Amino acid sequence: MTNVKAYGTGAPDALLAEMNINRRAVLANDIEIEILYCGVCHSDLHFAKNDWGMTTYPVVPGHEIVGRVTNVGSAATKLKVGDFAAVGCLVDSCRTCSSCKNDLEQYCLNGWVGTYGGFDKHLNQPTHGGYSQKIVVDENFVLKVPANLDLAAVAPLLCAGITTWSPLRHWNVGKGTKVAVVGLGGLGHMAIKLAKGLGADVTLFSRTPGKEKDALDLGADQVILSTDELQMASVAGKFDVIIDTVPYVHDINPYVATLAIDGTLVLVGYLGGLDPILNTVPMIMGRKSVAASLIGGIAETQEMLDFCGQHNIVSEIELIQIQDINKAYERMLKSDVRYRFVIDMASLK
Ligand code: NAP
Ligand code: ZN
Repeated sequence: MTNVKAYGTGAPDALLAEMNINRRAVLANDIEIEILYCGVCHSDLHFAKNDWGMTTYPVVPGHEIVGRVTNVGSAATKLKVGDFAAVGCLVDSCRTCSSCKNDLEQYCLNGWVGTYGGFDKHLNQPTHGGYSQKIVVDENFVLKVPANLDLAAVAPLLCAGITTWSPLRHWNVGKGTKVAVVGLGGLGHMAIKLAKGLGADVTLFSRTPGKEKDALDLGADQVILSTDELQMASVAGKFDVIIDTVPYVHDINPYVATLAIDGTLVLVGYLGGLDPILNTVPMIMGRKSVAASLIGGIAETQEMLDFCGQHNIVSEIELIQIQDINKAYERMLKSDVRYRFVIDMASLK
């Protein structure tokens, strides 16, 4: 067991501050990674503030991890000391259930182990995330980083990237598919880039005037101000797939109206009951679906990283010091991020 520095919080209303955590000793199949960069996901903020009512404290967030391998277990063969490596939202699962056997570890029937907020059965302690100096992870849950990409800008691919990639792939997005993305934040900007990379025709729905130029620069073909009824009406019945990344309760009925026959709206942002309620009439009249999706499996995450390597896709980032994490959370709450904060972990000395 090693003791490392981390940043976390002991209560929902407390600021994040420096603390010490334990990492397990490197087991035969493990890889130890010195963390170089960690992305800041809105889920980190939800978790630190116990928005989902499932946080046990202290919590050390961070599941968009990129670093350098510093030690490998005796049976680990995937990477060697000195290689770059990445870790996303999952660090273990049962590996035997039908979901795990089908590369869907995120839907493990016996409960997957989150990078933070999970339980490390080897250490017999809760798991802690990437706002820390080092992490020890089974090699089956470690990803390889394409050599041509900027390391800091790769970090957000490990959650924002895979969370939008997985539904784009599952709902067969390809050349000419009409895709819309709701919300231009961390997930939203990756959804635009990845959908565009797959050849789709991409529209952004944003409630924020002033993000149009950025969205077009990111690859969107069109931007619709969701607060403008005339603009909303102009895209009625248009989209095959909508990826909704909004983190808080909101009315999804206006977006269902923009689905084509057989279209699917995929919720990836908000977790909880819908308000106002979902009207099934337009769904029944057009065989439309409202679905949801959780991150992605390990094989699919590697597929996404390789795709990003081939297409030169990375996140748009603002690099911050760990000491600025509380300010970053405040700005994220105001949607004042263009478009992902990434922590330079060298600042945690
Ligand atoms: P983010 O960077 O804060 O972006 C969210 C965007 O949603 C904002 O930029 C804003 O875009 C829009 N928005 C924010 N508040 C809104 C509100 N009250 N009403 C309408 N629109 C609002 O967040 P993120 O990191 O992309 O995460 C988005 C959500 O996905 C979070 O809830 C996070 O926990 C969740 N998440 C889910 C998964 C999964 O597996 N399903 C994985 C990762 C994250 P505009 O200004 O353009 O409107
Ligand atoms: Zn995340």
